[in-house]
Amino acid sequence: MTDMRDRMVSLSICTCCMLCAANGECGDDCHDVEPLNRVGVGEHITLGVIDHNDGCTEADREEGCDCDKLGFSWQSCDACGSNLGGDRFAAVLWLAEK
Ligand SMILES: [Zn+2]
Ligand SMILES: [Zn+2]
Ligand SMILES: [Zn+2]
Repeated sequence: MTDMRDRMVSLSICTCCMLCAANGECGDDCHDVEPLNRVGVGEHITLGVIDHNDGCTEADREEGCDCDKLGFSWQSCDACGSNLGGDRFAAVLWLAEK
């Protein structure tokens, strides 16, 4: 059996990709490139972190912690490649099973 973590890649994604991963859509005219276009065939994205921040407790997680909120960044989005600055959110890319 392969370790699940071998298939998990932690990403920093933009608001549009976060909304598309959560709801299947974001809005019109809010992005310059198609959200989630870097997600390949057989791959999918789930929202959230692989490892929580130091100091994040079980109780924090139950209430919904902020570990997946990465804050404002100019770094390009890992899921669509957009270079627009904006809030980034943690997500997990699940690679296709070999
Ligand atoms: Zn959008
Ligand atoms: Zn947390
Ligand atoms: Zn994006």
